[in-house]
Amino acid sequence: MTLRRKLGLDILASKYSYGEDPQHGHTSSQKIPDQWVTTTCGYCSVGCGMFVGVKEGRAVSVRGNPDHPVNLGKLCPKGLSEHYTLEAPNRAKHPLLRQQGKLVPVSWDEALGTMVEKFRATQERCGRDALGVISTGQLVTEEFYTLGKLVQLGLGTKNYDGNTTLCMASAVSGYKRSFGSDGPPGAYEDLRKADVIFLIGANVADNHPILCQHLEANPRKTLIVADPRVTKTAMMADLFLPLKPRSDIALLNGIIHVLIQTGQIDCEFIAKHTTAFSELAKFVEKYTPAYVSQITGLSEDLILKTAYLYGNAEAALIGWTMGVNHSTQGAETVNAINNLALITGNIGRAGASPFSITGQCNAMGTREAGFTSSLPGYRKFESTRDREDLAALWGISKDRIPTSRGLAYPDIIEAAVSKKIRALWIIATNPIVSYPNLDVLKQALGTLDFLVVQDGFHPTPTSELAHLVLPAAIWGEKEGTYTNSERRVSKVNCAVEPPGEARSDFDIFLMLADKLGCSDDLFPGWTKPEHAFNEWRRVSKGRLCDYSGLTYELIEQHNGIQWPFPEGTTEVSTIRLYSDGRFQTDDGKAKLFCIEWAPFPEQPNKEFPFVLNTGRTVEHWHTRTKTGQVPILERMSPNAWLEMNTRDANALRLKPHDHVDVISRRGRVRNVELRVTEIVAPGQVFMPFHFAETNANQITQSAFDPISREPNYKQCAVSVQLSRAPKERRSRGAAEIPSEVSQ
Ligand code: SF4
Repeated sequence: MTLRRKLGLDILASKYSYGEDPQHGHTSSQKIPDQWVTTTCGYCSVGCGMFVGVKEGRAVSVRGNPDHPVNLGKLCPKGLSEHYTLEAPNRAKHPLLRQQGKLVPVSWDEALGTMVEKFRATQERCGRDALGVISTGQLVTEEFYTLGKLVQLGLGTKNYDGNTTLCMASAVSGYKRSFGSDGPPGAYEDLRKADVIFLIGANVADNHPILCQHLEANPRKTLIVADPRVTKTAMMADLFLPLKPRSDIALLNGIIHVLIQTGQIDCEFIAKHTTAFSELAKFVEKYTPAYVSQITGLSEDLILKTAYLYGNAEAALIGWTMGVNHSTQGAETVNAINNLALITGNIGRAGASPFSITGQCNAMGTREAGFTSSLPGYRKFESTRDREDLAALWGISKDRIPTSRGLAYPDIIEAAVSKKIRALWIIATNPIVSYPNLDVLKQALGTLDFLVVQDGFHPTPTSELAHLVLPAAIWGEKEGTYTNSERRVSKVNCAVEPPGEARSDFDIFLMLADKLGCSDDLFPGWTKPEHAFNEWRRVSKGRLCDYSGLTYELIEQHNGIQWPFPEGTTEVSTIRLYSDGRFQTDDGKAKLFCIEWAPFPEQPNKEFPFVLNTGRTVEHWHTRTKTGQVPILERMSPNAWLEMNTRDANALRLKPHDHVDVISRRGRVRNVELRVTEIVAPGQVFMPFHFAETNANQITQSAFDPISREPNYKQCAVSVQLSRAPKERRSRGAAEIPSEVSQ
């Protein structure tokens, strides 16, 4: 503190004074920029439009875009403070190569030369598929498209997947099975137009907060929320269904049973547009309200009331997120949701949709263009026609395109444990915090001959383990497009330069292609993201996710446009899929599935009596690599906590704010602050998963959906005991992770 400040002569006027911004009016003078850059939020899939204020080459503020149809000027706490991430102290600035156990700065030339040499040596020694690549939902679509080609055709490995498998794979698989293709059918406008909104395992108030304004703008709606926990979203509900963990399939079957019994189904839609209804009707006979009540813990009256409300709705929307997807039956639960929407004709109309709310800002982009679980444009690996189609577009032999997808994310990790994968390239994700059953992941990464981590931040708990760190630009420093949950393609723009020698992921991919010698073959003449976008428009032409009529200018002009938007489209309006009742299956009909409810895999017992549920909080983003560096967010939510019901806390003689250890068969999370609350039911506990220091994934299990390969993060059996560790505030760091790896 200066003397002038001590004497009260310096009142920090330059910091706290107000001024007039020509565009936004009265505001803090330090936040008045030289220029506002229009862009889209880079955190979640809601896809809010915003302006970044830039002053003397630095991002100094962020504002919501009042003309953007998604957020109408509002932003949540993460969006409002997003510019702080650009100057976070842990930004990666230089390529780093591990030499004698230490990461030391090297040139891009040496970094990429070493990467190519190591990857090629591994592939020559152990086969092409000994190289794995794990990407993300954080890049722009142009980068996903480029990366997919580079990995599958340039590096020639099939074993490529993204962290989207940790959050959205069940929705993708469920859509593909029911409708013949991925692609959420609805639009946010449906939240405003539905007369019943049924949210299952979706705490939008914390995780997709700006969607709440669409809910609030609908005075006619009845909001039904099914969740084992009384979340902030549950508190908004007209009807709350506090069902037992993972009993949602039984509830959905029960509602279908009641609707068939009472004739509240759309027989014409079923006959014209679906298959296997009679099998479904027979199958759900046993799901009587009494039986469903036993499984779900809900009263028969609540089940009947829910069925009555849903069945009588003119237009009903079912929304879901991780409460459904994070399950060994995630894909099947999505099918059960789709069943309910289909038998009542609640699809393809205003307000009527089975609507998966996606996680990351551009999880949708990688699903459309990414070359992981599908070929670009939702083409199928197994389809000769689809491979021929792509080969012709790219001017290559179809034999270069794999005939089946490679290993999914968890299987890449298992293959590393069993030494089948020998080198791994991790892009913009932090699995040391986000992957379930941390010990298995640490074992996998520890066996690798060469680990490359490409990220905007270093050190992260994962980048600390790398042999090579590639510094990447992040949101605000690069150009491209994101697709949000309602298939709206929005423009992302460069506001400031990346720090140090960091480069955009797009540039890194092109530089690597140069080193591999495949630039002319795969990316002829490409220098900027728009080149990838224009090729992607051609590749998506005629597909469900048709971008062919989109241009950067049009997207900017309309603050985002939903796909499909075929060439020649003149009107920009709300688009819903399947409005004509034709689905992407061979016969054009949607498939109904008989989905049997099953208990979750790890049931509580005497030793581990609680069911642990993990989730998120509004202040933080996933592994906190970004939000942990934003002071205002960090101050609002600095540490993890454990929620426990009052009755259980009393039985264990635990008090609010006690520090406890949470223990499962796989490990122990130490020193977590206890919240004694009625938000969780007796027998259940809840903990957020953002915090590396008290990492919930030390205790979660290796259980995956056999169809989607998505992890079952949500229910594992734990015990809770008073912690012996002191209650000091934990410092940020990679607890229990080796800080050095030798080559
Ligand atoms: S709701 Fe999502 S997209 Fe909107 S500001 Fe918040 S984090 Fe960004």
